[in-house]
Amino acid sequence: MKGAAWHTPAEAAVARWIRPEIQALEAYHVPESTDLIKLDAMENPYAWPPDVVEEWLAVLRRVSLNRYPDPSAKRLRERLHRLFEVPEDKAVMLGNGSDELIQILTMAVSRPERTVLAPDPAFSMYRMITLFSGMHYVTVPLRDDFGLDREAMLRALAEHEPAIVFIDYPNNPSGRLFDAGDLRAVIEAAPGLVVVDEAYHSFAGATFMPQLRDYPHLLVLRTLSKMGLAGLRLGILAGDRAWLDQVNKVRLPYNVNVLAQVSADFALGHQAILEAQAAAIRRDRAHLQEAMAALPGITVYPSRANFILFRAPPGQGPALFEQIRAAGVLIKNLHRDDALLRDCLRVTVGTPEENQAFLEALRAGLATCAGG
Ligand SMILES: *Cc1c(COP(=O)(O)O)cnc(C)c1O
Repeated sequence: MKGAAWHTPAEAAVARWIRPEIQALEAYHVPESTDLIKLDAMENPYAWPPDVVEEWLAVLRRVSLNRYPDPSAKRLRERLHRLFEVPEDKAVMLGNGSDELIQILTMAVSRPERTVLAPDPAFSMYRMITLFSGMHYVTVPLRDDFGLDREAMLRALAEHEPAIVFIDYPNNPSGRLFDAGDLRAVIEAAPGLVVVDEAYHSFAGATFMPQLRDYPHLLVLRTLSKMGLAGLRLGILAGDRAWLDQVNKVRLPYNVNVLAQVSADFALGHQAILEAQAAAIRRDRAHLQEAMAALPGITVYPSRANFILFRAPPGQGPALFEQIRAAGVLIKNLHRDDALLRDCLRVTVGTPEENQAFLEALRAGLATCAGG
């Protein structure tokens, strides 16, 4: 909207009252995926066996939807405390997805003059939520290989004294697991909170959860989304009780609904199924990586997550993305006009059949690029 050319009274009121930085935003875009093989959103491609679905439905039948849920989801929290091996004396808080926990935490520290710091690229919600909360977002570019730039991070910490540092470990969108020594240096130098976001823990084989004992200003974030329960919306924040007691005041009382509480508790009672699915995804990631690396013209980056970042031949990223979609496979176009993500695309590891369909689409797309 510009000038005084409002079309309706509502638009005029919007222009006056909605914060300009919100008006300037584009809404979070979820692309149309009907009839496409969906490899864009880091979802687990596997469903539960039919008998487990029946058992789950029987549990749901006993839920009292007329009652409010347990506001602190005590049973589920205790289960997750054990399952995620949170140190005994640390606390756990649940969110409606880890997105909500990022939001709650950010709200709890928010002041207009304060800063949130993260590497770039990183999970897009760090930037969005910081902006919603009215704070400044400062980024430190990753190195060419998507490793953490330790010196630049330390300089930025000293210069901006951020209230929160977000580090996705492994990093989304690169899949890179940062060097643990670099990460420790950042934690040790940070004046405020450091959130290590372990959304891809099931595929990473590394964690900072035990380090909660060493660093009182460290928080570890996990989610059930990438483990196969994206539809439930359940995130987990672990850390010192002194922090969580405060942050918990910002949480709305019934943020995890009763269906999510009961379903998560049920699913985690069938942990073996989720673990077998994660193992299959890790195995197929290796196959996919190998097959992609054998294709001429693309650069494939090593991944410790359930997706693979790759770079198309110069100038071909967006076109290759479109060709893969035209062939029936939806991946993620990350192309940006800077050296780090130029021509970069990201594919989520699917079932072996889906991965095969993607590889064929990629091969055909690359041949077209080379020919044209
Ligand atoms: C997907 C993702 C999340 C969001 O998880 P939800 O629990 O579904 O909100 C958080 N952090 C990172 C790094 C992610 O990639």
